[in-house]
Amino acid sequence: MPPEIDNRTPASPHERFMRLALRQARAAADLEEVPVGAVIVREGQLIAQAHNQVELLKDPTAHAEILAITQAAAALQDWRLAGTILYVTKEPCPMCAGAIVLARIPRVVWGVADPARGGAVSLFPIFQNPRLNHRVEFEGGVLEEECRGLLQDFFRKHRADRAAGSAGASRGGAGADPADGRPAPT
Ligand SMILES: [Zn+2]
Repeated sequence: MPPEIDNRTPASPHERFMRLALRQARAAADLEEVPVGAVIVREGQLIAQAHNQVELLKDPTAHAEILAITQAAAALQDWRLAGTILYVTKEPCPMCAGAIVLARIPRVVWGVADPARGGAVSLFPIFQNPRLNHRVEFEGGVLEEECRGLLQDFFRKHRADRAAGSAGASRGGAGADPADGRPAPT
């Protein structure tokens, strides 16, 4: 069984880096991208920061985490991102969770869980899968309300745009509308 997500509100140093990830997510929103941001830190130093660019690059794989992993690997000159922590505003999707495993990232911290599509622990529990050769420690719920609010505002706006007949493109390549996949109350 995967461990439960730790949703306690932490008074943690994680918040500092999650704020940088949130800044990236806001930059994505300003560019009409699904607002997800990620940063990678090693020994307290920022080595990568990125936001979702699926629309700009017209690339379904241009998620924040993937772009940040590529940056970090270039910075370290190593595909093994040993000793790093990846901060991301939303629980990674299955593609990104797979890339995180391949990069051997030891720890991931996210803001809001994605019960409908999450690939770390929610829909596909990749991070602690005993059949894979790398396990990823994780913590959720860091600045959760801000991370969720950004996504909800974005999808609310785009639903309103669609309803008004403008902005025909559907969004969601980089992720989930958290509003349509909320966990059942427990
Ligand atoms: Zn992803």
